[in-house]
Amino acid sequence: MIRFWNKRLKTGILTEAPDIDEELAALRKSLKDEVKKKFAGSLAIRMVDSGSCNACEAECNALSNPYYDLERLGIYFVASPRHADVMLLSGLMTFNMTPHVLDAYAQIPEPKWVVTLGDCPAMQAPFEKTFAVNAPATEHLPVAHHIPGCPPAPDAIIRGLLAFLKKI
Ligand code: SF4
Repeated sequence: MIRFWNKRLKTGILTEAPDIDEELAALRKSLKDEVKKKFAGSLAIRMVDSGSCNACEAECNALSNPYYDLERLGIYFVASPRHADVMLLSGLMTFNMTPHVLDAYAQIPEPKWVVTLGDCPAMQAPFEKTFAVNAPATEHLPVAHHIPGCPPAPDAIIRGLLAFLKKI
């Protein structure tokens, strides 16, 4: 045990602080302040994919890495809609997924909000109506805010969440 502690004390800290630019640092601070103001410091998001290519989800995954680290700002991605405040909806609203999306929305306790992520849910070009897609998400759900992009980069998602929080 003494050898272990000797080694630890001699080695020191080997990790480096992430090189976060000033703009992102300011965004993170504003987001943390808004989460504190509107959700008492803890905002739970349920991500729902209604028919995406998964690139939007990949960008969202990046929000949990040590660089963006949204959990330190009080934003959590939860596994159940029953624990969520916000549904973050990605992908085209396919016929097959529509009932499941509506069911997930119904499970979220009030008050609740829907934020759409990426160009798919808004059916913006080139995502025209097809045999598998019935309508934009706004025709099925009360969408409070839309985050555009294909896919939106993590910085754009942070900006979008901040705009949503300032709006409500
Ligand atoms: S908006 Fe683009 S990246 Fe996102 S799910 Fe649709 S096609 Fe994929």
